[in-house]
Amino acid sequence: MRKPLVAGNWKMNLDRRTAVDLLTHLKSLLHDLNDEVDVVVCPPSVYLDLASLEIKLSNIKMGAQNVAATTNQAATGEVSAEMLREFGCEYVIIGHSERRAMLGETDKQIAAKFAIARDAGITPIICVGEEGGDGLAVVSSQLRAVVDKLGMQAFENAVIAYEPVWAIGTGKSASPSQVQEMHEHIRELVTTDVRIVYGGSVKPENAEEIFAQHDVDGGLIGGASLKAQDFSDICHAAMSVAGR
Ligand code: PEP
Repeated sequence: MRKPLVAGNWKMNLDRRTAVDLLTHLKSLLHDLNDEVDVVVCPPSVYLDLASLEIKLSNIKMGAQNVAATTNQAATGEVSAEMLREFGCEYVIIGHSERRAMLGETDKQIAAKFAIARDAGITPIICVGEEGGDGLAVVSSQLRAVVDKLGMQAFENAVIAYEPVWAIGTGKSASPSQVQEMHEHIRELVTTDVRIVYGGSVKPENAEEIFAQHDVDGGLIGGASLKAQDFSDICHAAMSVAGR
């Protein structure tokens, strides 16, 4: 039985005050969150300390948006997996399409981050997805880099986020059947019972139908994670599907 996960990717949004407001509001909206769903917030790294204090003793877990691809300390501007761990991060987003596009992150670097996160006891949420064209070919080669480095067992206890680039931040989600089809293919590829979440314009209105698909284990949420009520509704959609 795979436990659904809903993770909020705040990207480079909010400031100290609005981050605290959002978490305060979320804690009260999610007070009834049961153990059937993992809910994670991923603030910018400079707010991890603040966020970890805010969510202490709550049922919300914390994740980071990136981790250094090296353990070498001569890495100006980078944040190590150990540092993330120290601030209470249980998850880290790796290989988000915005970083692949803006910073030229390669599959090889992403595989290195994946390994480093795992070694530090942090669950990687690896993002894969096509900009257009043959989605399965793109996703397969993105995942292959991790398999080449770490073997298939690397995905045990990891999370794969299928995020078609054309659906991110556009308001135009993939349809539930498109999502199911790709997730089923990914599951066949990686062969383990890995959690596969969907990301790309998930909102309260479409969350339940997407999460109800057989191979969908929750979502990675961008824009809608910045609004407490929307994020809470999405988490409750995951909870209601898990309870069936
Ligand atoms: C994301 O950035 O990972 C994402 C899924 O964004 P949005 O929900 O805004 O499409």
